[in-house]
Amino acid sequence: MIPFLSQSVDMVLALPIHGEAFLLRRGGIHVLVDSGYKKDNISNVIKEHICDVNRLDIVVCTHGDADHVGGLPDLLRSWGNSVGQVWLPGRWSSVIPQVYRDPSLFFNQLVNELDSNLRNPSDKIISVVRCMGNDENIPIIEQDMGYQIRQGEINVIEDLIDDPIDYSLDIDRIPPEPEWFINLRRDKEVLCSDVAYDHAYKSAIRKVKYRKRKFINSEFTDDICEYWLGLIETSDAIRNIAALCISHSIPTRWFDFNGFINNGLSSGGVNGFLVPINAIEQPSIEIEYSLYMNLTKINQESLVFFAPPRNSLLGVLFCADSPLGVGPNFSYSFLPSYSPLSPIVATVPHHGAESNAIAYQHLKSWGGVDVFLRAGGTIKQPGLTFLRQNDCPRLCTKCPKVGHSPMLSGVVFVPYYWPGLIPFGRFCDCFPPNGP
Ligand SMILES: [Zn+2]
Ligand SMILES: [Zn+2]
Repeated sequence: MIPFLSQSVDMVLALPIHGEAFLLRRGGIHVLVDSGYKKDNISNVIKEHICDVNRLDIVVCTHGDADHVGGLPDLLRSWGNSVGQVWLPGRWSSVIPQVYRDPSLFFNQLVNELDSNLRNPSDKIISVVRCMGNDENIPIIEQDMGYQIRQGEINVIEDLIDDPIDYSLDIDRIPPEPEWFINLRRDKEVLCSDVAYDHAYKSAIRKVKYRKRKFINSEFTDDICEYWLGLIETSDAIRNIAALCISHSIPTRWFDFNGFINNGLSSGGVNGFLVPINAIEQPSIEIEYSLYMNLTKINQESLVFFAPPRNSLLGVLFCADSPLGVGPNFSYSFLPSYSPLSPIVATVPHHGAESNAIAYQHLKSWGGVDVFLRAGGTIKQPGLTFLRQNDCPRLCTKCPKVGHSPMLSGVVFVPYYWPGLIPFGRFCDCFPPNGP
């Protein structure tokens, strides 16, 4: 519990859970970025540890990975009437209408795709399953998704980061939702009931588990089936998030990575307060790929948001699981071309995974970071590159290699008072057995 903080103090907290969730308070406005695993029960965690938060003005989901999105449905169930708006990945627009309108057709298609992949596992599915197992990025997907970007094509719109006169007004100015989502709201009475949905969802799980037991003519069967169970869980979370935003009348906003990658410009968010770095707001392009491709977690598509620092406001870069770049080996940085003015807290890209090591170079050429805030991850993380970032304090809710239980950690911002940032909680001692 941190009772000493008044509403007026800016801070960013990594919540003490096994997945990843950050709470930002900035100018009295509360933003939750990601919600951990379902079992993390984040609603209780917020109530237990942060006594004076009774409204979440913005709830952000960076991508569909279980350690980021798993807790969001339950959070919306218990906080639904106290959530101002929800920001979601545009990629989901290709999945939500199908799973919401006709879940049995949706899950049947997903199981059909599993069957053809079991009968004849392609190189692609084998590499996806392997990358997942080793917690690596999936380079092959990048070409499949149709985006190719050349160096020099990336420009974050710097206007978006300008200080508006009063962003609290901007927070109330929510752009109209995309038509496909308005249609779901309109049709909600005639659409599939929760009971029918639940039936379709459970039957899909049974079918995949049955195939896992019975289908034994490939060495990949087990991994592919496990992977498909993950896709079903992701679909379930996505569907329930949409359904809860509809039933609680919470405005949604959509952030599309592909739209950014196709023209190299980011846009949207709340000017001066919280803006996307690698997405455009809204066009929610319907992408014609197989369901499994649209559901596959693609770390390099994690949405990155930036709360630009001001003299009186805490600056935070929320990196999610992103390598902070695109192109070959993610070597083209998409961070803004100028350096930020004031101290910056960055959440650690992909829990410090070595596969995202290039992100630290991007951060350095951007102007550096004053505190790293690390959360979540498994014993595979963090890697050596993160452990060698010794220029600034590194906080870590749990040091997976040591086996600590998660501890509330974060940074309090004291404007106009050197050094401005006061880190507290656990300072990382994730040393690997032989030292860093
Ligand atoms: Zn993650
Ligand atoms: Zn650590």
